[in-house]
Amino acid sequence: MLSEKEIQHLRLRLVAWYRAHRRSLPWRNTTNPYPVWISEVMLQQTTVSTVLPFYRRFTERFPELQDLARADLQDVLMIWEGLGYYARARNLHRAARIVRDHHGSVVPADVTAFRNLPGVGDYIAAAVMSIAFDQPYAVVDGNVKRVLARLLLIAAPVNRPADHKIFKAAAARLLDMSQPGTFNQAMMELGALICTPRRAACSDCPVKVHCRAERDGKVGEFPKRLQKSPTPLHHVAVGVVFKKDRVLITRRRPEGLLGGLWEFPGGRVKDDETPQDACVREIREEVNLKVKIDFHLTRIRHAYTHFKIVMDVYNCRYVSGKVSLNGPTDHRWVKLDELAGFPFPKANLKFMPLLKPL
Ligand code: SF4
Repeated sequence: MLSEKEIQHLRLRLVAWYRAHRRSLPWRNTTNPYPVWISEVMLQQTTVSTVLPFYRRFTERFPELQDLARADLQDVLMIWEGLGYYARARNLHRAARIVRDHHGSVVPADVTAFRNLPGVGDYIAAAVMSIAFDQPYAVVDGNVKRVLARLLLIAAPVNRPADHKIFKAAAARLLDMSQPGTFNQAMMELGALICTPRRAACSDCPVKVHCRAERDGKVGEFPKRLQKSPTPLHHVAVGVVFKKDRVLITRRRPEGLLGGLWEFPGGRVKDDETPQDACVREIREEVNLKVKIDFHLTRIRHAYTHFKIVMDVYNCRYVSGKVSLNGPTDHRWVKLDELAGFPFPKANLKFMPLLKPL
């Protein structure tokens, strides 16, 4: 660990560097907790460049917390469409309503009250409390863990949840209590711009003089990671069912993966069946319709956080039956040009441009 004197010097160097080199980002020009909160929710496991257009759309559409609280969930999901992690959008929406109804539309500055809101974990709580209210909570995200592991030669794997507390304690020790929000952002910015996963730019690093990994020539060996088991791959079959000039879409349950989004019916291909058979079976089981496959439209690959899918998409024709739902919570028969009015998962968005009227 560094001495108290070294830590003080490190804080000065890091914050001075941050003030001179930080990127100009729209959520950095404010201490209003609402936009800070929105940005931090979006930024979890997502890069700044991906988040920027979503953040702008979101804050234009819902400039104040009351606008978000008043909105229909489907409108919120539409704005979030393509960003992934849809539970975050649902939780933000629920949290905004709780803040409106129980905190007079003012984001609570009390960490316990804020932590009790849906979707607010340690990271979001520390980020919003420190950046918006200058409260002394250290932020620990992936960037910060990497910087800490190198700076202090922490051998605990950064991806083992049980070791998170080691990084949390190290971050708390370094935190500059006189300007916690600025210091936290400086640590995250250092990880994003200088102390990057591959090829850390140590020669440009403001805290190089204190870095144990640099001193020992071990930058490439840190952070340590646990070997992950291979990501499971699922085979999925999906049908775009045409009935005259309309196609069938269904809405997923409100909770769980992609909850509340719309999609084309389909599901997992079992070991002993073809994707065509799986498509017809899934449609029968989910919506009680008999369909005929016209042709294979395309094959899509998509990666979620914990698994990947290969999705075979079929153009189908309605044969018989009346829709009755087993799993989805709602359905619509819509024209192709109406699809843009519904929020869809990214995997569906990938093939939608290929759809043509029959
Ligand atoms: S000197 Fe290099 S390894 Fe150490 S904190 Fe700076 S960029 Fe990271």
